Amino acid sequence: MPVKNNRLTNEQYEASFSDIHPPYESITAAKVDANRCLFCYDAPCMKSCPTSIDVPKFIKQIATENIKGSAKTIFSSNIMGAGCSKVCPVEKLCEGACVYNLLEEEPIPIAKLQRYSTEMAMKEKWQLFERKPSPSGAGGVRRVAIVGAGPAGLSCAHVLSREGIDVTIYEKESKGGGLMTYGIAAYKVTPQFCEDEVNYILSIGGIEIRYNQELGKDITLSQLKKEYDAVYLGIGVGVARQLDIPGEKLEGVTDAIRFIYDIRTKGYPAVPVGDKVAVIGMGMTAIDAATQAKRLGAKEVTLVYRRTEAEKPCTDVELDIARTDGCGIIWLAAPKKIKGTQGKVKQLVCSVMKLGEPDASGRRSPVDTGETFTLDVDMVIKAAGQVPFEKLVKKYNLDNKNGKIVINENCATNIKGVFAGGDAVNGGKEVVDAVQAGKDGARAILKYLAP
Ligand code: SF4
Repeated sequence: MPVKNNRLTNEQYEASFSDIHPPYESITAAKVDANRCLFCYDAPCMKSCPTSIDVPKFIKQIATENIKGSAKTIFSSNIMGAGCSKVCPVEKLCEGACVYNLLEEEPIPIAKLQRYSTEMAMKEKWQLFERKPSPSGAGGVRRVAIVGAGPAGLSCAHVLSREGIDVTIYEKESKGGGLMTYGIAAYKVTPQFCEDEVNYILSIGGIEIRYNQELGKDITLSQLKKEYDAVYLGIGVGVARQLDIPGEKLEGVTDAIRFIYDIRTKGYPAVPVGDKVAVIGMGMTAIDAATQAKRLGAKEVTLVYRRTEAEKPCTDVELDIARTDGCGIIWLAAPKKIKGTQGKVKQLVCSVMKLGEPDASGRRSPVDTGETFTLDVDMVIKAAGQVPFEKLVKKYNLDNKNGKIVINENCATNIKGVFAGGDAVNGGKEVVDAVQAGKDGARAILKYLAP
């Protein structure tokens, strides 16, 4: 049972990882869906969007063929509106709130419509926002440093740039986009799309990204504080949570973050995958790892989750993708031990669980029954969540809760002039939440810099 790369032909890789969301092929098709919208007053779809995109307004603009106006409506609230239209779990956000659900009819395909306008804006390179002149005053031109070119950092940078602030983003990777570029299945957003989206955001001007610059290694917080008028930390989370079970160091054990990162950076043929793969977890990252393992050519992929389907963190749509891809699922099972021979993974021993009382998350907690079973596998992918950069946060004496940076209602940390937001603060939510956090951070910084 070898773990090996290069299992498929280039054509098979391309077919496996092609865009899962078919776009509209014409304005007529988009208008048919747009015209179904009831343009609700006090629209629930808008309320359920963390960035409060004016959904009825942008859909009406599509219905009247004002695509440029529609894109501007979306980007005014969410500069990553194109990416979010592909990765948002819309079934639990805007589309899940659409009134058509109450009528037991298909909700308006809001994400698909959003994609139509925003992709056209990117393709046509529409410049929809003007950068205000730099605010002058006693302090002269204001300069802000942002750490992290992920959704929070980019969104913060765009709002600041619109207000005439000069922004420098320090990014530890060689590309921008953060989670969008490095942490999501390639069949949802292609690497090329991510690059185009970052370039579109930067096209407003006034934002420079310095790549391969890691906080705590290549740059320090005190240096940034000295050189800039304010600092925003959008460093995200990144360290994979360990299972703390025997056998975790065996060859063939990896974590989903690393696995997905490799797929995004090395190219499909270069990434090794086993014949029989177990994926531990049931969040979006677990699903992305499982489906991509299958699409890389694994013969059997099994998702192992310690609770039942009712408590799963992923959405039904994501679970359907895994099932359609042929991934198996074992509910009420927790990894107990990984066994190997000659240093390589051979088996995963799991505990059989049952549901007990609700825990802090409100979901019924998994309780070990004492029974076990064994899966023959040659690869184990851990997707049990991510933990914050606790060491880094503590190194700079930032107030934190288990590594999550603590901010006040003005997005400010305990260090004067240093703000923070996104996953680094909340521990990891959706891309759209990070975009909103970036907007909030920018507004707080503007207030702080105001003469
Ligand atoms: Fe349109 Fe549905 Fe939103 Fe109403 S809830 S405005 S029908 S998308």
